[in-house]
Amino acid sequence: MQFPDQFYVQINRRRGLRRRFAYNYGEIMKSVCLKRPGDIALVDISVPQRGKDEVLVRVRSAGICGSDIGAYKGINPLVSYPRIIGHEIAGEIVEVPDDETELMPGDHVVLEPYVYCGECYPCSIGHTNCCENLTVRGVHIDGGMAEYVAHPRHLVHRAPTTIPWELLPLAEPLVIAMHAISQTKAQAGEVVAITGAGQIGLLAAQYALTLGAIPIVIDPVEERLALARRVGVMHTVNPTSCDSLAAIRDISHARMAEVVIEASGDARAIRNSIDYVSYAGRIAFVGWPKSEIPLPTALFTKKELSLFGSRNSVGQFPESLRLIAEGKVDVSVLLTKTVSIDEAPATVVDIAEHPDRYLKVTCLI
Ligand SMILES: [Zn+2]
Ligand SMILES: [Zn+2]
Repeated sequence: MQFPDQFYVQINRRRGLRRRFAYNYGEIMKSVCLKRPGDIALVDISVPQRGKDEVLVRVRSAGICGSDIGAYKGINPLVSYPRIIGHEIAGEIVEVPDDETELMPGDHVVLEPYVYCGECYPCSIGHTNCCENLTVRGVHIDGGMAEYVAHPRHLVHRAPTTIPWELLPLAEPLVIAMHAISQTKAQAGEVVAITGAGQIGLLAAQYALTLGAIPIVIDPVEERLALARRVGVMHTVNPTSCDSLAAIRDISHARMAEVVIEASGDARAIRNSIDYVSYAGRIAFVGWPKSEIPLPTALFTKKELSLFGSRNSVGQFPESLRLIAEGKVDVSVLLTKTVSIDEAPATVVDIAEHPDRYLKVTCLI
């Protein structure tokens, strides 16, 4: 249905600043949709209707994440189809509820994509990140790789306008890395061994540096270790070309790592984390292993280890945005390239076929 221009003028006048851009309800927008595993395409759908406690966001950029690639390949058991992908979402607010006082149309925002129920046991103790009924955008519910998205207002974070659109979606992987480090309560001066120098590992290393901790990044790919050194990590270890255990012993002056962040999901790295960690040490497991992994549980007891699962994040978006804006964490080193929404489907296919060529791709919309 087409409304005359006058309609928007009236609406804008009545709502004051509550609506920034005129658009038609029912207007068609582009979206990047997984129809089924292995079948991704640009699909025209209606602009979503904003719910009562939701804001409508004109999406400006969305990151392509490993879990989007898993969804494309059909190996992410949480995803249902058809599904619009994208959970690393940044944009500009178009419309807010009438009683909204914090957020305004025109604000640059990042969406916290983990929509929780607020009623289950983990939610009741503030662990909304592992809500029993969690729905994540782009996974259980439609994501943000589209021109518009409507999202609960309490899960929308205003971002400094100084952060460029292509970098803003990286606040999401950063909060995942921050949450893993926070689980272990890593302190200044502690050695933090990080297995896996992918996005999460490299961001965890940078966050550890902001805390004054001493990160050691462990990864078999030399280019990734070079990236770690570029962001200020002094100690990098390639476990395929040296004795990683001896290297960590050496760097830590025989203390071993008080904290290990397992960010690879690799079976050998998960096993090694038990050896890398010090007595009375802490390990956070943030990488997703592909299968069940046998571990020497006697060592948990002998070393009196604290082991943490780490999933999503809770309450850390404002700090992540501050760290990016102040240049304390350099997310730009992770950016392989940007693509348009038209190029996004082919890019997802290419990343699935050649994962080694990419770290982070942001889709500008
Ligand atoms: Zn992600
Ligand atoms: Zn819940």
